[in-house]
Amino acid sequence: MEEYTGKAIFRGIAIGKVCFYEKGEQMVKRGRIENAEEEIARYERAREKAVQELGALYDKALKEVGEVNAAIFEVHAMMLDDDDYNDSVKNIITSQKVNAEYAVAATGDNFSKMFSGMEDDYFRARAADVKDISERVVSILTNRDRTGYVGDEPVIIVAEDLAPSETVQMDKSKLLAFVTEHGSSNSHTAILARTMNNPALIGIPIKKEWNGKLAVVDGYTGTFLVDPDQETLAQMEAKLQADQESARLLLQLKGKETVTPDGKKIRLYANIGSVADVAGALSNDAEGIGLFRSEFLYLEKSDYPTEEEQFQVYRQVAELMAGRKVIIRTLDIGADKQVDYFNLDKEENPALGFRAIRICLTRPEIFKTQLRALFRASAYGNIGIMFPMIISVQEVLKIKEIVAGVKKELDEQGMKYGDVELGIMIETPAAVMMSDELAKEVDFFSIGTNDLTQYTLAMDRQNASLESMYDPHHPAVLRMIRMVIENGHKENCWVGICGELGADTTLTKEFLEMGIDELSVSPSCVLGLRKVIRETKAGTGTAV
Ligand code: PEP
Ligand code: MG
Repeated sequence: MEEYTGKAIFRGIAIGKVCFYEKGEQMVKRGRIENAEEEIARYERAREKAVQELGALYDKALKEVGEVNAAIFEVHAMMLDDDDYNDSVKNIITSQKVNAEYAVAATGDNFSKMFSGMEDDYFRARAADVKDISERVVSILTNRDRTGYVGDEPVIIVAEDLAPSETVQMDKSKLLAFVTEHGSSNSHTAILARTMNNPALIGIPIKKEWNGKLAVVDGYTGTFLVDPDQETLAQMEAKLQADQESARLLLQLKGKETVTPDGKKIRLYANIGSVADVAGALSNDAEGIGLFRSEFLYLEKSDYPTEEEQFQVYRQVAELMAGRKVIIRTLDIGADKQVDYFNLDKEENPALGFRAIRICLTRPEIFKTQLRALFRASAYGNIGIMFPMIISVQEVLKIKEIVAGVKKELDEQGMKYGDVELGIMIETPAAVMMSDELAKEVDFFSIGTNDLTQYTLAMDRQNASLESMYDPHHPAVLRMIRMVIENGHKENCWVGICGELGADTTLTKEFLEMGIDELSVSPSCVLGLRKVIRETKAGTGTAV
């Protein structure tokens, strides 16, 4: 048995034969031509055919993986229309008197190198795309087949790397998993793998000799086993069965409405911390994102993320959620989430200290950068913004003033943005007590029960020795939630819960009776909670 560990980019277990997928990399021969005009015409015909093929691929992907994920083929078609790309091909044909396939391959290489040298992740990811379109045109010029046939029985695809067009062309019913040596978790191929619901690993040093051998992919641990021994195989089969069992529950509830037997509809959203987490939200059929903890973006960096970097991330999430609500929380740094480059002073009581909105309002340059990125991304989906750790109406008024300034600036620069709902987190007792007035200023409240519990009970949520006394079901917390919902509804402000308590199904009945409008939970809790909501009457609880 051979065992390897890579990075799992989508969870799940797969057991089956390996299909070594050969890239179809094309050795392009350089040939001398006499008539450059004829060669350019030959290139134009191949280019047009490639655009037609991409149109057909778009239609196929649209049916199988949805509009947002199919969009990559539109991007490819647009790349083939790009003047710089076409001028480069034609210039190589004319100036070097070479055949079209050589000119296309050389252009593809040049552009790909240029993109992969760029700092921006988005452009680096385009390197694979430009190679992909060039290979498509070369295939047409050389009459080679690129249909992605992987055989008749379901297989684990093992490849050095996979281009999005290769992935989507494969017959989905014949795919068990993807294992690649290269590739990144943010590439479109990874996004497609997740959307196709196949376990996928990257970073596995692949071998051609595995072709046809039995293998196991564990998308929970990142493990890849070739020729597993009997004992390991039996263990993995048991794991697969358990996985299939929960998937059955998942399947039954996917696509079903989150509605109580007496007709109250609940928005059942998911909490995420990165673009990669959207896969879990989608595969668990979350109806939106109720909390995107944007501070993770700052935590994984060694310096402030730029407006552009943030914009790309927020836009990707908005696009992946394809019109469903995406609520992004502004930076919640401080307390347990410390970032060196913020150079914050050491504090006696960090949980009660300089954190979250307090930092943003004191250092507006950081706040404005994030708001600009968020508003720009709102042109690509249905974004809502919420602000953490609010204690007063004055803070909200100040935030609204800064937001108005950011929108004015974007207007002046001719930058688009969408209609953005603004909300606040209710996670301090002060916000609870002021919720009647706060509700007049915002579109929604999202109750952060994790912090609300610690501040209400005056118990550090990080302190393990308080574990036995720490009671999130404390009546004080539940009364506060009720109060917030009542005050919110009086002002037509919808109310959700995004703290961990939202997923506690022993409280679902109570929340429904209180009139909760939204529950935002970890992706893996979505379907279990949907089941409970569909079985629980809301009684008098009314929604906004
Ligand atoms: C909360 O406090 O309930 C919350 C959702 O925010 P975080 O857990 O990130 O503090
Ligand atoms: Mg909190």
